[in-house]
Amino acid sequence: MKITDVKLGILRAPLRVPFKTALRSVDSIEDVVVEIHTDTGNVGYGEAPPTGAITGETTGSIIAAFKDHINKTIIGRDIDDLENLLIDLNKCIVKNTSAKAACDMAIYDLYGQLYKIPVHKLLGSSRKNIETDITISVNPPDIMAADAIYAVEKGYDVLKVKVGIDHSLDVERLVKIREAVGDKPKIRIDANQAWTPKEAVRILDKMQENLIDLELVEQPVIYHDLEGLKYVTDNSTVPVLADESVFSPEDALEIVKTKSADMINIKLMKCGGIYNALKITSLAELAGVECMLGCMLEAKISVNAAVHLACAKQIITKFDLDGPILCTHDPVIGGSVFEEKDITVSNDYGLGIKGIEDIEYID
Ligand code: MG
Repeated sequence: MKITDVKLGILRAPLRVPFKTALRSVDSIEDVVVEIHTDTGNVGYGEAPPTGAITGETTGSIIAAFKDHINKTIIGRDIDDLENLLIDLNKCIVKNTSAKAACDMAIYDLYGQLYKIPVHKLLGSSRKNIETDITISVNPPDIMAADAIYAVEKGYDVLKVKVGIDHSLDVERLVKIREAVGDKPKIRIDANQAWTPKEAVRILDKMQENLIDLELVEQPVIYHDLEGLKYVTDNSTVPVLADESVFSPEDALEIVKTKSADMINIKLMKCGGIYNALKITSLAELAGVECMLGCMLEAKISVNAAVHLACAKQIITKFDLDGPILCTHDPVIGGSVFEEKDITVSNDYGLGIKGIEDIEYID
């Protein structure tokens, strides 16, 4: 099975409600989609969201990464040459992790089709179903409490609450949410780098004093301050999950060596795809560091690839894969089934994506 062509397009899906974090506010998904065509007629699908605030990538940069670097590296190559293909993909341009992730997942998709096996089975086959949390965007406390009630009514057991805009409101936000939903739902919070280390410890202590009972706090401090991250890990009883501090397997190694965080959030768009994510899971298994599998604002093609990985590996114990359910409609045909919190992995060969409605191809 040889790669003959790479087609790029844009997929658009409006969000049910605007997505707001300490870093950005967005009201629709507009991602670059890649189709890798082969001489056997098989097509592999990938997707890359332009998440400039986190990965530095834009629609233009993702397209350019393909046109100027990735295409010439992969066109003409054999899918059966998997390891060499993926190593060359990673070497053909530095960074540009979302563009690489889109290509990496399309290659795994084709490799699974070639050997007639679903990718989650190829990677490990640990489970068939997972439950995702749902994001509560950062807003005034009363709006967040109402959003939390709505999520719990829809069956979500785990709320991922965004904090970090106007820090003085963060404790009140959590108090209002906990009052609104009661003790049962798990609450994890994500500060998206907004706090200083001392501020983080103070706010987390205050939340604990108010009996909010947090499952974990994600990325309390700026991504490059590993000492600050470690300060929070050492000085708070709330487990700390590193997100923006861990892009590559090398970053994960640093976190494990320095014990700067208790857990690692893997996202295909940060690490460059399944190939590098597997290095992080191996490292995490050895170190006994549990992982979350998260996503950016992504539609179903790339989140489906994350579901395959999540269903393969036991060390991934937390799932933040709510991208597709935040959209008003799903333009992607095939793949894993998303029914609010319940996700069932696709059992078709490869990743199971069959096509995309309304794709706008780019010349
Ligand atoms: Mg995060």
